[in-house]
Amino acid sequence: SSQSALNFGAGPAKLPREVLAEVQDEILSYQNTGMSLMEMSHRSKEYGKINKSAQDSIRELLKVPDNYKILFIQGGGLGAFAAVAMNFMSRTGKADYAVTGTWSGKAAKEAEKYGDVNLVFPKLEKPGSIPDQSTWTLRPDASYFYYCDNETVDGVEFPYIPETNGVPIVVDMSSNIMTRKVEVSKFGCIFGGAQKNIGPAGVVVVIVRDDLLGAAMKVCPTVFNFTLVHKDNSVLNTPATFSVYVMEKVLQWIKQHGGVENMETQSGRKSGLLYETIKTSGNFYSCPINENCRSRINVPFRVGGPQGDEDLEAKFLEEAEKRYMYQLKGHRSVGGIRASLYNAITFEDVALLVKFMKEFQAQHQ
Ligand code: PMP
Repeated sequence: SSQSALNFGAGPAKLPREVLAEVQDEILSYQNTGMSLMEMSHRSKEYGKINKSAQDSIRELLKVPDNYKILFIQGGGLGAFAAVAMNFMSRTGKADYAVTGTWSGKAAKEAEKYGDVNLVFPKLEKPGSIPDQSTWTLRPDASYFYYCDNETVDGVEFPYIPETNGVPIVVDMSSNIMTRKVEVSKFGCIFGGAQKNIGPAGVVVVIVRDDLLGAAMKVCPTVFNFTLVHKDNSVLNTPATFSVYVMEKVLQWIKQHGGVENMETQSGRKSGLLYETIKTSGNFYSCPINENCRSRINVPFRVGGPQGDEDLEAKFLEEAEKRYMYQLKGHRSVGGIRASLYNAITFEDVALLVKFMKEFQAQHQ
């Protein structure tokens, strides 16, 4: 049944069942108003409370200092790639990018439309490692330095915050926001789409240090201008009200489940179990990513040897679905298998996956 689906998708992804049940309860009449939240004005007092509560919850969960603003925009992660360039590039017209995989690569491409983009290390032949920081060519006059904390497609996660000697850091945390503690004060701007760890698709959370506001390029669309969006408290135009509403509930759920501290603990346990299974499989399963930057969130692996046996991988996916395990197919650009272990995925979900992997290996080795 649909109830028992184990959804390992990369995003949109599994949401906590309790949250969905609450949404179901309220869908026809939100807090006895006789209306769905979907049908209410973004300037209603009800939405105003949700908007504030979501911002407050993010501030509390990530311990966001007072000199940072929290905004909600639309346009997805891809929209944010353009938005950060248009908001922050103007100081010197230059920006430095670390390209560790698909999404930082796309972000750099987008930023090239708005200024001089330097890649701090040459394009990697194959993602899966992060060149040592001592080899990077960081420009002291860059307006900002950009990286992707967790590459969703490639399974590469930064084990540290880069040192930029004062150049503001802009980071994409779309796939690992709220999965570990973060020292917000080290960043100029943190952004992330909600559709993996904190909600449904449709909203991007932007956390921005206030001294970086006020410098958007003239061409910057109003809806992407962080200064103007902040000035109107993220209701400058009609936001994705339903997405923010569900996100607000997921944030409450995270608070009720031990906050980001516990999400971090669980992420470690879940990914630890999966990587251990891969490691002890005698190369039946293999993960191509360097051990020092393996993602705790998106785990790509091959079946049937390090190069992957595509027939066996197709069989793996087919057998997985018979056990209600879905969306395990690797991104089309890298192939193989990918298990995404976002916050709503439980340790028990991963234990079931691992049990299946062991049985599949026993049958097909
Ligand atoms: N950044 C990262 C790290 C992502 O994983 C994604 C989407 N998977 C994006 C950006 C792009 O997000 P969107 O599809 O919302 O534009």
